[in-house]
Amino acid sequence: MYLYNSLTHKKELFTPNDPSLVKMYTCGPTVYHYAHIGNLRTYIMEDVLEKSLRYLGYPVKRVMNITDVGHLASDADTGEDKMLKGAKRENKSVLEIARFYTDAFFADCDKLNIKRPDVVEPATNCIAEYIHMVQTLLEKGKAYVAGGNVYFDTSTLDKYYVFNDHDEEDLAVGVREGVEEDTNKKNKNDFVLWFTKSKFEDQALKWDSPWGVGYPGWHIECSCISMKHLGEDLDIHAGGIDNAFPHHTNEIAQSESYLGHKWCNYWFHVHHLNTDSGKMSKSKGEFLTVSLLEQKGYDPMAYRLFCLQSHYRRNLVFSWENLDNAAVTYEKLVARIAALKPEGSVDEEAFRQLKQRFVSALNGDLNTSVAVTSVYDVLKAKCSDATKLALIQDFDQVLSLNLLQAAQTLREKQAAEAAAQADPEIDALVAARTAAKKEKNFAEADRIRDELKARGIEIIDTPQGTKWRKV
Ligand code: AMP
Ligand code: ZN
Repeated sequence: MYLYNSLTHKKELFTPNDPSLVKMYTCGPTVYHYAHIGNLRTYIMEDVLEKSLRYLGYPVKRVMNITDVGHLASDADTGEDKMLKGAKRENKSVLEIARFYTDAFFADCDKLNIKRPDVVEPATNCIAEYIHMVQTLLEKGKAYVAGGNVYFDTSTLDKYYVFNDHDEEDLAVGVREGVEEDTNKKNKNDFVLWFTKSKFEDQALKWDSPWGVGYPGWHIECSCISMKHLGEDLDIHAGGIDNAFPHHTNEIAQSESYLGHKWCNYWFHVHHLNTDSGKMSKSKGEFLTVSLLEQKGYDPMAYRLFCLQSHYRRNLVFSWENLDNAAVTYEKLVARIAALKPEGSVDEEAFRQLKQRFVSALNGDLNTSVAVTSVYDVLKAKCSDATKLALIQDFDQVLSLNLLQAAQTLREKQAAEAAAQADPEIDALVAARTAAKKEKNFAEADRIRDELKARGIEIIDTPQGTKWRKV
């Protein structure tokens, strides 16, 4: 499988450290509010990556954190803890907020067929691990204490900006924009590993540490949770593109300084879901959730299809019109699958050839839009319906669009509608009209049609025979 690696800026043949277990880490949600559909785009594409790896024969262990402490209003370590902001907004405790929005996040994931990672770890579970890593970084001379906080010292690194070739000054200015400068920092990019002092004295969750009572920085959570469950060598680290800097940059800095060797080989970044007015973001207050889409009558599968139709490394623009198009496409696709009959045997050669196209799409840097097109190739192919159904079932292990289940539901609905319409007397009249037409007794056929019309029945002649419906 070829995957674009943000670390090397090119597509590379994916080669795990140990093919018997791919180790994958995903940055989890900050549970101070509902996930918006932009966040969920990232989780959908990460889900497709994990399922593709499994489909291609790699066993995967995937770990995700739940950020329930330490993510401040600005990713550059300033402002109030987002969790505390959420708790104040709703007049609840931080733990209540965390529990409520963690459950809401997984309920949304279920609706979108996003598989739960093998390990899900709340950040507040791993305080001992953070303290150990911070202590080691201090002992190695990679960190320092200033103004009560512990900072990572970026001047100890050979290279800090690992993901881009930007001019360092430009980036640093970008980070500082609108953010007050922390005068404790020795270097502009240094970041907090452990807080004991902040101007927000009412931080809800605090723990004892060698540096005083405080709480961890956001970045250290992912490094420690990953190492706790996946060890010192990680194959893939995934997240939204906004996490590349500073979050992932800082994760690499502290992890590799702690370990003394390279940590993660492949960095997978999903680009943003934008609206006309820019990036969808929780902090802007107004955002779209899966529940809102459902309230408006959309099947969450239409949103999943909408995401799969575009490449994960392109920004995706959300509009209701675009979602409507995806919803219509989904309905039509399901209707075509519902028309297939589970008859005939599976043609192994056709199966192999059609599957090959799907596999190549996944292998080409997770080209999900081509993978979706492979389903249409199957529908158009000259092979038995049994082969087509077997292929669609196979592809849906990765696409997770509920294609066969939705087709079955549609067939049941159509059968129920037909049953509601059943009327033996009308059937007999329709049959008599068909017989009259066959005998070229058109006067009788027309008479029956008129009689049916008078009873409020419309006759529809189709290539499959005559049908009728009440009007
Ligand atoms: P958060 O809950 O804010 O920590 O974000 C959860 C995930 O969603 C992270 O991987 C972010 O990078 C990602 N993310 C945030 N905003 C967007 C967006 N508009 N489109 C896609 N992914 C996003
Ligand atoms: Zn993270």
